[in-house]
Amino acid sequence: MLTHKIVLLSGDGIGPEISEVSKKILLKLSNKFNFNIEIEEELFGGIAFEKFEDPAPKSTLDKCKSCDAVLLACVGDSKYDQLPRELRPESGLLKLRSDLNLFANIRPVKIRNSLIESSSLKKEVIQNVDLVVVRELTSGIYFGEPRGIIKNKNKERAFNTMVYNTDEIERITEIAIQIAKKRNNRICSVDKANVLEVSQLWRKTVENMAKNYKEIHLSNMYVDNAAMQLIRDPSQFDVILTNNIFGDILSDLAAMLTGSIGMLPSASLNNIGPGVFEPVHGSAPDIAGQNIANPIAMALSTAMLLRIGLNQIQAAENLELAIDNVLSKGFRTSDLDDGKSEIISCSKMGEKILEEI
Ligand code: NAD
Repeated sequence: MLTHKIVLLSGDGIGPEISEVSKKILLKLSNKFNFNIEIEEELFGGIAFEKFEDPAPKSTLDKCKSCDAVLLACVGDSKYDQLPRELRPESGLLKLRSDLNLFANIRPVKIRNSLIESSSLKKEVIQNVDLVVVRELTSGIYFGEPRGIIKNKNKERAFNTMVYNTDEIERITEIAIQIAKKRNNRICSVDKANVLEVSQLWRKTVENMAKNYKEIHLSNMYVDNAAMQLIRDPSQFDVILTNNIFGDILSDLAAMLTGSIGMLPSASLNNIGPGVFEPVHGSAPDIAGQNIANPIAMALSTAMLLRIGLNQIQAAENLELAIDNVLSKGFRTSDLDDGKSEIISCSKMGEKILEEI
């Protein structure tokens, strides 16, 4: 029987609560669809800092490099805000992404019919939304050098560098093209080419790449307009391709179309090794330990892991259907409270999903 090796990083805050749900889901699906799953749990984020004074210990990173796929919950807490930057949980995330060379972040945003009333936007605006944000993840302004803060006598000066090489733009564009080919062949590349040289190179490179694929319809949009269009008419988008910082902001904006950040999965990939599958949300310290977190974003990330990371397509489809069924029956966690549904806990939501599998 096929055996898949998964590394599970539960991290901080609500991480352990939502991880527990995904762990049970994976085990049930492996029984149902006849594959073995070995889940190794490793320390990562704040909890790893507590034990090893390192949010991304080498032992954890080594395990991640040698497994089939990594399932990550979330990291972070304000109690680590005073630590030097490299010791904070969020720096552990950046280290994991760069060590595994995860240059592509994929965030699907799909409106689930039963949650259409949960969005802060009108039903007519969001009802046909089904888009994917493809964000470059390991370069751009978050990694560019030089960076720093210079202290002068009277004032301080801080600076960062937004930088891309052609090959970095080409490989993320290739990922976006492959995703678009499995969807509607439409890519909107988002940049700020009217102001930034780095965006001019981005646009030229993306356009050159797209010329090789006659079936791909490429359009370009400035990031400020893209932010506006995502609120005005989000269903116009199919695949949005963008750089690290614009993708960071736009994907959270797109996230809110669905009504709750607790519903959004993501995958971070390269073109050879294991990918990292994780919910879009953070560690939600304000609700941690209360058993009220929404485990669905992580469960949907688990579905992405099954589909993209392990090629267990049937298991992925079964899980997504199970989640839709639970929502259609009117069960919600409190973040999705619409005043009409039955509000259940995080663990109860897990049980309901398991019943539907
Ligand atoms: P957050 O996403 O943790 O929380 C924002 C709001 O959404 C909070 O009100 C929270 O209660 C709610 N929320 C988030 N996930 C939820 C879920 N599954 N169910 C119900 N409600 C949910 O963002 P934040 O408050 O800005 O950050 C908290 C910590 O998480 C910080 O330390 C931050 O650096 C870290 N963070 C980590 C990641 C990650 O691990 N990938 C991403 C973003 C933020």
